[in-house]
Amino acid sequence: MEELGDADEVVGAAVDAGVTRMITMGVDLEHSHRGLALARQHPEVFAGIGHYPTESSPPDLDAIRTLAADDRVVAIGEIGLDFEDKGGPARDVQTARLHDLFALAVDLDLPVSIHNRGGGTELAEAITAHPGLRGAMHYFALEWDWAERFVELGFYLSFAGLVTRPSRNALRDVVKRCPVDRLLLETDSPYGNAHNRMGVPNRPAYLLDTATLVAELRGISLDGLAKLERDNAFALFRKLA
Ligand SMILES: [Zn+2]
Repeated sequence: MEELGDADEVVGAAVDAGVTRMITMGVDLEHSHRGLALARQHPEVFAGIGHYPTESSPPDLDAIRTLAADDRVVAIGEIGLDFEDKGGPARDVQTARLHDLFALAVDLDLPVSIHNRGGGTELAEAITAHPGLRGAMHYFALEWDWAERFVELGFYLSFAGLVTRPSRNALRDVVKRCPVDRLLLETDSPYGNAHNRMGVPNRPAYLLDTATLVAELRGISLDGLAKLERDNAFALFRKLA
């Protein structure tokens, strides 16, 4: 994870652009701590406490539980499965860790933010094994058959700048078909750039690039999209509201 630079400036630019709430996801304990510190300093920022799937060490569940008790923590994330990064732990190790983190999220009544590369089948099985689990498929990049499967499991689809890239027709189709009450937007900042801003670090303010295209694809106004996205974010990440 890169540094955000001057956090005051980054948060200020986002708020000026109309992005009034942000969640900074943690990939390990150190980054989760730092995200939480940022959230304590900025009323617009909230934190996710997570453990990235390619981490070599197992998640420290007690430490995650302690951090997640903070009022500013709205999610367990980023967690998930990454079977495409060959440097990560074996499939069975990642899957066992994910079950532990899902159980913790259900116990804490927090939603999860899920990273998925090549683990769709195992993810769907793991979600099914944890009744009461809710969450978002972060940086959703797959086709409609997978989208439908996760929506049927009660999950939200979170779209990033990828959708603005002209080659992504299948993903644009998912954006059009996504149920109105399951659609979320994100930046994955500093990654996940929109098509017109490649080569610069992504920023929360640039969510507007994605939002503008998503509103156009769905044939609604930007204000209409903002309202529904906000309602969905509040419904899932309840502590944001
Ligand atoms: Zn991710």
